Amino acid sequence: MEGQESKSVKVNCSFCGKEMECPENMLAKSKKHMCFDCFHNEKNPPDEELKDVHIDVPVNMLEERISEEMTNDMVDKLFPDLWRSKKGELKHMSKKELAEEMFGAGIYFGTRIVMDVVRRSMEGGKPGEDANETND
Ligand SMILES: [Zn+2]
Repeated sequence: MEGQESKSVKVNCSFCGKEMECPENMLAKSKKHMCFDCFHNEKNPPDEELKDVHIDVPVNMLEERISEEMTNDMVDKLFPDLWRSKKGELKHMSKKELAEEMFGAGIYFGTRIVMDVVRRSMEGGKPGEDANETND
């Protein structure tokens, strides 16, 4: 069953003028639109300037960036512990075994985090309900 997606309207990027799409429900709230190129090129956009800006971030791009950031974050946080606890046994492994062990550990942690997110989203709000709670 489809039809849950909101309609998209063609708009122009307020910064470079490029044609882009904006979901209808975003259109009402957005004063400006920013295409992904402009978003990407903007070094450190001040928050208040982007407050009412609808930014067109392609979903696949977003997934890629989130995955990348999550990976870097996890490596920073988890690797030191993993390294400390496994250092001893890793010493006796061949390079292939080592790579396998580390690859496996990465997948394990990744899966744990995904499962955690899934579980929390199942316990939490039901998707499809209007989560618009800003009253002022
Ligand atoms: Zn643009």
